[in-house]
Parts: sequence; C-alpha cells; structure tokens
Amino acid sequence: MANTVETFLESEIPCYGLLKPEDVQQPLDALLAHAEGRLLQITQSNEPARWESVIEPLTDATERLGRLWSAIHHMGAVMDSPEWRELTNNNLERISRFWSGLSQNKVLFEKTRVIHDQTASPLLSESKLRALKNSLRDFRLGGVDLAPEAQSVFAERSARLATLSQQFSENLLDSTNATKVLVSEEQQLAGLPQAISQAAIEKAKTEKLEAFAVFGLQQPSLIPVLQFADDRKLREEIYSKNARRASELAEEGPDHDNSLLMAEILYLRQEQAKSLGFASAAELSLASKMADSPQQVMDFLLDLAHKARPFALQDVAELRAFAKTNLGLESMESWDVSYVSEKLRQNKFSFSEDEVRQYFQVQNVLAGLFQLVEELFGVVLRKTSVTEPQYDLSQCLWHPDVQLYSVLRGGTTVGYLFLDPYSRATKRGGAWMDDSRGRRQRVSVLQKPVAMLTCNFMPPNGDQPSTISHDDVTTLFHEFGHGLHHLLTEVDELEVSGINGVEWDAVELPSQFMENFCWEWEKLQAMTSHVETGKPLPRDLYEKMIRAKNFQSGLFMLRQIEFALFDLRIHHDIFEQDLKKGAERIMDTLAHVRSQVAVLHPPSFQRFPQSFSHIFAGGYAAGYYSYKWAEVLSADAYAAFEEEPQNYGAVGQRFWKEILAKGGSRPAIESFRAFRGREPSPEALLRHSGLLEAA
Ligand SMILES: [Zn+2]
Repeated sequence: MANTVETFLESEIPCYGLLKPEDVQQPLDALLAHAEGRLLQITQSNEPARWESVIEPLTDATERLGRLWSAIHHMGAVMDSPEWRELTNNNLERISRFWSGLSQNKVLFEKTRVIHDQTASPLLSESKLRALKNSLRDFRLGGVDLAPEAQSVFAERSARLATLSQQFSENLLDSTNATKVLVSEEQQLAGLPQAISQAAIEKAKTEKLEAFAVFGLQQPSLIPVLQFADDRKLREEIYSKNARRASELAEEGPDHDNSLLMAEILYLRQEQAKSLGFASAAELSLASKMADSPQQVMDFLLDLAHKARPFALQDVAELRAFAKTNLGLESMESWDVSYVSEKLRQNKFSFSEDEVRQYFQVQNVLAGLFQLVEELFGVVLRKTSVTEPQYDLSQCLWHPDVQLYSVLRGGTTVGYLFLDPYSRATKRGGAWMDDSRGRRQRVSVLQKPVAMLTCNFMPPNGDQPSTISHDDVTTLFHEFGHGLHHLLTEVDELEVSGINGVEWDAVELPSQFMENFCWEWEKLQAMTSHVETGKPLPRDLYEKMIRAKNFQSGLFMLRQIEFALFDLRIHHDIFEQDLKKGAERIMDTLAHVRSQVAVLHPPSFQRFPQSFSHIFAGGYAAGYYSYKWAEVLSADAYAAFEEEPQNYGAVGQRFWKEILAKGGSRPAIESFRAFRGREPSPEALLRHSGLLEAA
C-alpha cells in the first residue's frame, strides 16, 4: 500500500494533504480485497458468534475502507478535478456492491442476531445493544430477506443509484461553473456593496474577460446581486440563469440536464422500497427515522403551513405595496423579491444587511463561537499551528484556506476539527459537516473523532479580510452544531458514536439549536469587530436586528414546507418507469405543492428540482422535512436556556451529557426527554418565529 495512504489512515490527524489521486487506486483495491477476505473469514468460522469475534474485526476492516472511500468523496467535493472524478466514478459501483453484499449477507445477519439475542446476559453495554438493533434493521432494509435473484437486482439498483447521485452533483457543479453574467459598464454595479463589486471587477481581470466585471452563480456572488443590484436587468439575468441551472433550459445548453437523472433516481428508489415490502420510498425512508408515517409527516407540515400562511400572505402584500409605492415596480417579479425585501427591511428597520456584515469577520466570529462552546460545554478549541512540531500542517490540509483545530477538555485533546471556509470553483455549493472519523475505543487506544466543516463564504480579497453576513454566521453555527454532536460524544462504539446511528430527522437538533446563540447580545459582542473601526456591534443596530429577526418568517417557513412536501410527495406518489414522464410528473408535483402552500410563484422556466441536491445527491430523500421536525426539538431545547438565563453552564452541561455525549446510542426522543424532563412541544418554535399571535 502506498505509504502516504497508510499514513493517512493511521495517523491521529488524517493527512488529506498527502492524498494524490494517482496514489489512491491501488490502496483502495487492497482495502476492498482485505474487507472481503475478512467477511469471508467471519462467515466461514464455526466459532460461537460474539461481539469480539464478529462485529469488532469486521468494523476494523470496513472502517479503513470507508475512511479512504469517504476521503476520495471529500476531495472530489472540495478539490474537484478530472482525476478525483475519475477515481470516484470508476469505483462507485464496486464499493456500492460491497456494502450491498454486506447488508445482504444472510450468515452475517444470523450471527448478528445471535449476538443481539445473547443480550439477556449483561455482557453488552446499552450502546452495543443499540448498535446491534440498528444493524439488524439495516440488514432488513438492505434486502437480507430477499431471494438470491431479487438480492442481486437490489444490489444492481443500489450501485446504479450511487452513480446517478454522483452524476447529479457533477452536472450541478458544472452547470453552475459554466455560466457567467458579464457586466460591461460600471453603472450596472450600482447598489452593490463595495467588496462585492470589487471582487467582480477583479474576477473579470484575472479571467481575462472582455467585460468590466463578472459574476458567477456561486452563492457569494449570486445572493448579493439579487439583494442589492439596482439594475433590474442584471438581477433578471442572474436569476434566470441560476433558475435554469442543470436543466434542459440551462444557459450552456442541455449537456448538464438533471431531469432524467432525477426521474431515474426516483423510479429506482420506489422499486427498492417495493421489493422490501414498503408502499413507497417515503415509507422506506421513515422506517429508520423518528417520524412514524408519511401521513403523520404531511399532517405535521400542513399544520405548520396553516399556522404560517396568514403571516406569509401579510408578508407578500407588504412587499408588493412597498415595491409599487417606494420602488416604482408595478409588478414584483421573482428577481425582484430579494431586492424589494432588502429595501423594505432597510426602510422598516433602518439598517442594511451590508451594514451588519461589516461587523462579522470570520476569525472574530470563530473566536466568539469558541468562547460560547467553552462556556456551554467546557471544551476549548485551539488552532493547531506550524509551531507545534507534532502537526505537519502541509500534510493535513487539502488547501491553504483550510484551518485545523484541536478540541480539548480538561487539557486533553478529545477530537479534531477541519474548517474549509471559503467559496471556490472546485468546491460544491452550500455548507455541510462531514465525519472524517468517529470516536471508537479500540483494545488499547481511543480513536478520536475528526469532523470537517465546509462553507462557501466570500473569500478575502487581497488584504481585505473576509466579512460574512449574519445569515452566514447562522450557517457557521449550524454546521458547528453538527460538528459538536460528532466531536463531543462519549460513546465508545463507532456504530453509534457521534452522529452515527442518530435518526435522520433528529440530526438537525444540535445544529439548529446552535443557531439560537447568533441572536444573543453578549455572544454577538464577543464575536463582532467592525472591519474598519474594530468596534463590536453597537446596541442600536442589534436592537434593529432583533426587531427584524422575524421579518418575513411566514414566507420563509412556507418555502421550507414547500420543499419538504415536494420531497415527501414525489417519494410517496410517483412510480414512473418512463423517465420522460417521470420528470414531467416531478415538475407537476412541484406545481401542485405550490398551489397548495406557496404564496409566491416563480416563473415557469424555473427548474428548482434539478438543483435540489439535498434529496437527489445527499441523504435527505423523503427526509427534507427533518429540518422542521428537528426544529421543534431544537427550539424547545433552547427554551431550557431561556428559562434559566443565569444557569447557562449547568444547562449546557446537561445538554452535552444527555444529547451530544449520547449520540446515536439511544433513541433521540429518549435523549430529549432526559434533557428536558418532558415530551417536546412546538410552542417554542412558533414563538421564536413570531408565528404564535394569530395562530
Ligand atoms: Zn444541518
């Protein structure tokens, strides 16, 4: 095995910087062969099944394979190149087949069941028992009970699904990068914040384009243009190019069209679900979640929609009236909505998002965040630096922008965190937390968890530090919450430590919980420093932000519900083998959901599903509702802090002990009850969103 890969796998901090695409294929083959060999050994053994002779050695082998494979994925997502893509695409099917084979292995299933059933004896810890229960469930969901022929069809489909998801992502990234919006005159930049214009002007120069300035469709340029550009034509152009990404209408042509891919993904998911005896892919998805049935989730979403609707209607009426009277816009089009909202916000609360942005420099925000985490959970984050000889940063980091932190409790390192903050063309859009390693107690050593946070903030421009919007700050806190969930676990079994084994619709509890602290005066004081004066956020601006906090929260709530309902409906209702028809039905379902809940309707050329990677390329299929579902839990959990403002430390410790530390080792609802001492209630969510009064 190439030395660099061995070092990557075995060193305490995974050395991503050492991974070169050309060195990875052979070690991947070796790890796969080793895992297959180990599986054979275990299933052929006549020894009585025990955790130590079955689960432990299999985890040893599969974990190393999983680590390298997820590193390949990670590198593809943050350092996209033809070489990483080729590696991913060449190996996707066989890796997928290996995992399918594992969950369809009847002998292994039987051995796992025997170990599980021995648990009448007190030999197994609570978390081992939970890991075994999850595993038995996953065997069933992976097709262990199917006849051999059906099993191979099932594995075939799983492999195909993995390939389709990867293509979906690649199309989206390529389509995003293929499109630019050129600006020929300075006056077209009117209204835009200085830093944004400057970056666009410089981009035109670096890319040697015959234009005064250029905007890409990446979020740090798309969002400010829609929000601030006075030039309506410019807004329209960037909006419509973005809305048509990765579709048959895309600016660059239909080469990156995701329409048929999503129809095929959906069809295969339905077939998988049917073969396992579920009525739909939505039912299959819920089999491992907190929620019981698609109907229960739909009722939950429609109830929230019902409560939010009157507020959303008010929001829209206010926007339209303002657009007409103050901005002279007779009709408010989709490319006007962000712009009008921003102007209305400035008018109503007398501040602009850009004014707020000046106070949030990435490094200061991080310092404030770390201080909060220390206060709440008693852990310290320390940036690892080149002066510490045990860390060779050039080996650890995959890009010069990446930062590495050690997480310490009582002076002892308990885990590591990578942060990759800035947007670049080789990185997928959005923000996410990835688990690089999970906590695991091995015979003599404790494997420490490692988390990776990826964001797409606007990079620093020359010696101008990077400033981020308050929305970005919220995103950072959100992803950091996922990171804490993963890093602060005290569970020893990899299968249920950190975020492993947590029900998908409870995963957003710690992340959305952390968002609340972005609105606390003292916390904001600790994380703000004006980019020119160095002063913290002033009280009057803070009060304006608080007054504006629930600005258009009805609209926002309905949009989230629209996405969630759309996702659930297509996975519950559409069974279409004809992919062209399938793609049409997906669009029809979206139109239907919109007619049911939306109060703003985008133009007919908008192709939202084609870029909805959460559900077609991420893990959120028939699970997008999880955000709202878990927000009930996270808002209610945060309310415990509101009830005892003088006791943050103690409540924080309890949150850590009962929720973060427990990870997936027990059902999420039990962790919630242990923390709160009662069942969850939606009251806090509605109150925080300002949607209680008229409900
Ligand atoms: Zn999240």
